[in-house]
Amino acid sequence: MFENLKPQPADKILALMQMYRDDPREQKIDLGVGVYKNAQGVTPVMRAVKAAEHRIWEEQQTKAYTGLAGDPAYADAMITLILGTSVPRANIAAVATPGGTGACRQAFELIRMANPSARVFVSNPTWPNHISILNYLGIETVAYRYFDEETRGVDFDGMIEDLKTAKAGDVVLLHGCCHNPTGANLNMVQWQEVVNLINDRGLVAMIDIAYQGFGDGLNEDAQATRLVASSVKECLIAASCSKNFGVYRERTGLLMAVSADAGQTALNQGTLAFLNRQNYSFPPDHGARVVTTILMDEGLRADWMAELEEVRLSMLGLRRQLADELQRLSGSDRFGFLAQHRGMFSRLGAAPELVEKLRVEHGIYMVGDSRMNIAGLNEATVPILAKAIVDVGV
Ligand code: PMP
Repeated sequence: MFENLKPQPADKILALMQMYRDDPREQKIDLGVGVYKNAQGVTPVMRAVKAAEHRIWEEQQTKAYTGLAGDPAYADAMITLILGTSVPRANIAAVATPGGTGACRQAFELIRMANPSARVFVSNPTWPNHISILNYLGIETVAYRYFDEETRGVDFDGMIEDLKTAKAGDVVLLHGCCHNPTGANLNMVQWQEVVNLINDRGLVAMIDIAYQGFGDGLNEDAQATRLVASSVKECLIAASCSKNFGVYRERTGLLMAVSADAGQTALNQGTLAFLNRQNYSFPPDHGARVVTTILMDEGLRADWMAELEEVRLSMLGLRRQLADELQRLSGSDRFGFLAQHRGMFSRLGAAPELVEKLRVEHGIYMVGDSRMNIAGLNEATVPILAKAIVDVGV
């Protein structure tokens, strides 16, 4: 049997990480993999996470199974964090999942189960794992225009034009905030236009929100998701706690199915629990418990919010510094988009040869499509990157 297996494509980002590790140069910069790093290049355990883990260690009496949906208190706390009061709780079915990836996977499976002929419209570009999982599940994807190579903002007219080719029942996958890999995002007027299109054409919205709190603030980053959830007939929301709680390896995510008809919720909830059971039975609990402990305790929550805000502001500061430095060195405003983008990533818009040149000649590692992890920088490396970008002629 095993001889029938075929080698699978290697993950490009992980291959890049290895190349970075093998590079003997002292002055090398890693802008590859999507984890937050502080100025010392460390991905720290957040203070509130440590404190919550301590508390759980002291107080937890059992490791017996939770439920197929995970701990209901986790879903409640996360729903409030993401949706606020925009949608009545009775309209939301939710299950814990292994990370945001698990949430996406379960959402795609639900789509295939409910409507095997649905196509999923994905932004061009999108997080590559979206396409990879959809392909694996045999779900047809259609790319809609998103990134404008010229302005490095959103090609909104192109996006709308492409979404107009969707048929009733097709799914539109949107990034709730901090678009990965581009960093370019819709404004609220544009979001409203997308919502109108979804409603006019009978499409299904799906939101992937993996960076709440990394862009403009916790509430601000959830605004679009809240608008969609409260305005459409039904939507799926896949959320990740990996970044905003820094619990990457704990695999902490949530999938919500939101319906304007509360009478639908029990069936949705049962379906989500069924899907969990087929794939892994009970979802992981530790990360979810940490998140719940933090969100439900006033002191821990305040400390978490303060640290998350430090993280957000540090990335904004680096964006500003990089844009300013590039303006100074290039004498042009063409890099101003770096300060406009939000979240951990920006797509520089450099051709693959230039990305290669940055790596070979300057020891700067970014993903081949020129996605840079802004958190891979610090105040001292920003000028080095800016000079290299101008030197290679981006
Ligand atoms: N969606 C997007 C857009 C992401 O960037 C990520 C993280 N790379 C995820 C989902 C899932 O993250 P995780 O499974 O680690 O929670």
